[in-house]
Amino acid sequence: MRENRPRMRHRALTLFSLCLTLIGLAACTPAHTAADSPSRADAVLPSDLVCFQRGSIPIILSAPHGGRVRVPGSTERTTGLTVRDENVAEIALLTAQRLTDVLGAKPYFVIAEFSRKDADANRTPDQAYENPAGQAAYEAYHRALRSCVDECRARFGAAILIDIHGQARVPEAIIRGTRNGRTVSRLLAAGGNDALIGPDSLFGRLKKAGYTIIPDGPGDDPAQPLGHESVFDGGFIVGHYGSDNPDGVDAIQVEIGGQRTHSMPRFSRDLADAIAAFYEQYLQPAAPPQSPADAPR
Ligand SMILES: [Zn+2]
Repeated sequence: MRENRPRMRHRALTLFSLCLTLIGLAACTPAHTAADSPSRADAVLPSDLVCFQRGSIPIILSAPHGGRVRVPGSTERTTGLTVRDENVAEIALLTAQRLTDVLGAKPYFVIAEFSRKDADANRTPDQAYENPAGQAAYEAYHRALRSCVDECRARFGAAILIDIHGQARVPEAIIRGTRNGRTVSRLLAAGGNDALIGPDSLFGRLKKAGYTIIPDGPGDDPAQPLGHESVFDGGFIVGHYGSDNPDGVDAIQVEIGGQRTHSMPRFSRDLADAIAAFYEQYLQPAAPPQSPADAPR
């Protein structure tokens, strides 16, 4: 059905643009023209099929598996998962909008518009793509994400990266992935275990809102004070950008069950409110951030 691809691509782009228009976000892909982002002018181009917003608070949303647009010139990957995480791109956008409303400031975000059939941004390069077109999409995603992480470290000293995914294994649950705490090393050192599993943590707030969380609390094993992450314990993105890396920030993978991804507006609101509460408790900078002009290029 190769001859139908341009029409399908146009339809997907139209839907995505409509979503952006509806929620009042206009920062998809033309980040290089944004007047307030001269230091990151080359992070992504419209042709990269990456939706990128430069923020003003140290919250970074990432959604690598929600893209619907086939990359021109690419062929479908023959190994690895190629299935889309349903509705996660939309959830990331709605969460960003809600955070902006609640906190009065914009989070950073990087959202794949390109299909996982062409590139998987949550894999190592040797597993992520099979042709130059897929490679270009993959590298654009990580160029944007790295620019967010580097800028947050320079402006704020710390940040939280929320890597948003969908999962069908436990449809009612939200599954945590931090490589059993390693990708949030800085957060645990600064705020203790409560910063990840306490009542004002991201997952504590989601639990309070009625969601099933896996793992839920510390459990009975004293060797696993955070509870044991065994189903999805954190993929490439949180591993690569997490705070156990010298150039990383605290990074949490959030795997949303299928029952929840189908109620996008409600879940996005609850996720944003949980992130906002966590941010105010554990991350809000005491001092004003450096201006963008002071941030390293
Ligand atoms: Zn995923």
